[in-house]
Amino acid sequence: MENPSSPFQDRYSRQQLFTPIGPDGQARLATKRAAIVGLGALGTVLSTQLVRAGIGFIRLIDRDIIEPSNLQRQTLYDERDALEKLPKALASATKLRAVNSEVTIEAKIADLTSRNSQELLGDVDLIVDGSDNFQVRYLINDFAVQKGIPWSYGGAVSSYGTTAFFEPNQTSCLVCLFGDEGEGGHDTCDTIGVIAPIVSIIASLQVTEALKYLTGNDQALSRQLTTIDVWKNTYRAIALGAPKEECRCCAHRQFPSLQRRTEALTVSFCGRKTIQVKADKRPSWDLQALAQKLLPFGNVLVNEHLLRLDLGEEQITVFQDGRALFHGVDDHVRARTLYARYLGM
Ligand SMILES: [Zn+2]
Repeated sequence: MENPSSPFQDRYSRQQLFTPIGPDGQARLATKRAAIVGLGALGTVLSTQLVRAGIGFIRLIDRDIIEPSNLQRQTLYDERDALEKLPKALASATKLRAVNSEVTIEAKIADLTSRNSQELLGDVDLIVDGSDNFQVRYLINDFAVQKGIPWSYGGAVSSYGTTAFFEPNQTSCLVCLFGDEGEGGHDTCDTIGVIAPIVSIIASLQVTEALKYLTGNDQALSRQLTTIDVWKNTYRAIALGAPKEECRCCAHRQFPSLQRRTEALTVSFCGRKTIQVKADKRPSWDLQALAQKLLPFGNVLVNEHLLRLDLGEEQITVFQDGRALFHGVDDHVRARTLYARYLGM
């Protein structure tokens, strides 16, 4: 809560006038902790709204640097950040501290994995998904269900997006809904694009549910899986329902993504400036279809065995068996980023 002598004592006045939150909800929010996984398009909106609303603590987790192609929708970053190639976690923390110095903001430049999930997610009241791939979402889901921590799922590509607020033991989970396959194929914002409005809408819905939960308004939670397409003007919501009796996660308490000793993507160095990334589960790549998607990004060569994408200084060779070689790349974080961007997860 604001100190009465602070020039910012009215900071939360409009939010407190909103009856379901009120002064009690505001005070409660100031004691709460959240982790945001991914500080891209969703993550910048999520973190901005939660920090402005007055959450007590927020951890910003991202492995990436800011690039010019982010500026169209990643609302915390500016041209200088992109030119300086600042890590997203650090740049967003700096901006958000200037917005609200009362919130404790922690920046982590990291790739969320089974090894660091306890350290990064184990001490928060809520995990918020701002990631761009299902590998991370299944890890979050397994961790959340195992530890009993609610998590907010959000995803947006093209002009459509999906969100749900999962409460372990209360609602179904990601595995209850989609099994272990995840929804969709390999479409990502980097292959089929995305417009900013759908990102803001999905992130705003995520924050709305977060605020309900963190201010003690559980009865107001939507408990639905909501899908919106702002271009086709469609809105669809289905009830999450209770945890499924056959769910390996909720019912059988099996959490494979937490037990995995090696990461789902195995990264190894193959000589100077060449890195191999191999997916744990063999992706069902149709190299011809993948080639069509990648055409806008550079020269593509494809045959029945492999696909090669030439990005200029960097080249990617994709094999039918799920391996990809990144040439001209000398750090494994960059290789994983390129994998997620062009080959999807
Ligand atoms: Zn489940």
